[in-house]
Amino acid sequence: MENDSTVYKALLESTRAIPWKIDWKTMAFAYIGPQIETLLGWQADSWKTVEDWATRMHPDDREWVVNFCVTQSQSGVDHEADYRALTRDGEYVWIRDVVHVVRDEAGEVEALVGFMFDISERKKTEQELARLQKELEELSFKDGLTGVANRRMLDSVLELEWSNARRSRQPLSLIMLDIDYFKQYNDHYGHIAGDDCLKAVAGLLEQAATRARDFVARFGGEEFVLVLPETSAEAAIKVAERCQRLLLKAQLPHAASPVSQLVTISIGLGTCVPSGADDVKDFVEAIDQRLYSAKEQGRNCCVAAGA
Ligand code: GH3
Ligand code: MG
Ligand code: MG
Repeated sequence: MENDSTVYKALLESTRAIPWKIDWKTMAFAYIGPQIETLLGWQADSWKTVEDWATRMHPDDREWVVNFCVTQSQSGVDHEADYRALTRDGEYVWIRDVVHVVRDEAGEVEALVGFMFDISERKKTEQELARLQKELEELSFKDGLTGVANRRMLDSVLELEWSNARRSRQPLSLIMLDIDYFKQYNDHYGHIAGDDCLKAVAGLLEQAATRARDFVARFGGEEFVLVLPETSAEAAIKVAERCQRLLLKAQLPHAASPVSQLVTISIGLGTCVPSGADDVKDFVEAIDQRLYSAKEQGRNCCVAAGA
């Protein structure tokens, strides 16, 4: 028997899981494996009561973990909890505490026994995965080159703002614009410079869209869209003019353009207070027609009314 317990002790103290026992009546540690010192830096005999356990826990985890473990233990339910344990150096280590409730013959809770596992590696992996997941979500709504929203995001935002405008009976404005003679730009300056030009234009458009819900997206190629909720026709024209002005101020050279020595854009824009029968697709189509008209009329201009 004596031999047996020596064997058990040796086994318990040589695993990576850290065994412990708490006496339920006194809430004091009856035992904690010496491995705890290797993991957290606190000597085994410094773990006296559950107070020590609770104190050496990240403040953000403490309340829910202590409440949860006490409630579960009182109801006699085995349980486990993940939390950050404080090390002696003031760092935190993620721990999974697995708890078994021991009852006496009368069925009363007598003690808690359990194991603490170091799960910091697993947590690190989980956090990294969550970060990557978030990044992926962002990427799938962002245009990779310019960083503005992509077509997919545009479709969602447009649908949302369309129904907002319908409900609130507020005007929704849309600006579509396309860089003039961009094929010639690429031919003259090269594709890399073309990419830089797209980034610069996207940046200017974001500057031009000043209100909180104004939204800029790359529609595709060298074409961009601005969604302007609660914006009248007059205000939308001001935004379009601001785009032109910022582009002019940026003085992006375009030596191969037949209409200017600088990069220019053609713009189609329009405003709508959607009502029952209106379809957002027709609205977009109408604005696209105006952009086409602006091209027809010689480029570097803005068309704000239907043909
Ligand atoms: P227009 O004035 O009628 O709009 O003429 P354009 O040359 O701008 O129009 P076109 O549709 O003929 O050509 C668009 C060009 O845009 C061709 C394509 O190579 C270029 N383009 C589209 N996407 C990108 C891109 O991501 N990077 C670069 N560098 N060029 C792009
Ligand atoms: Mg173009
Ligand atoms: Mg185009």
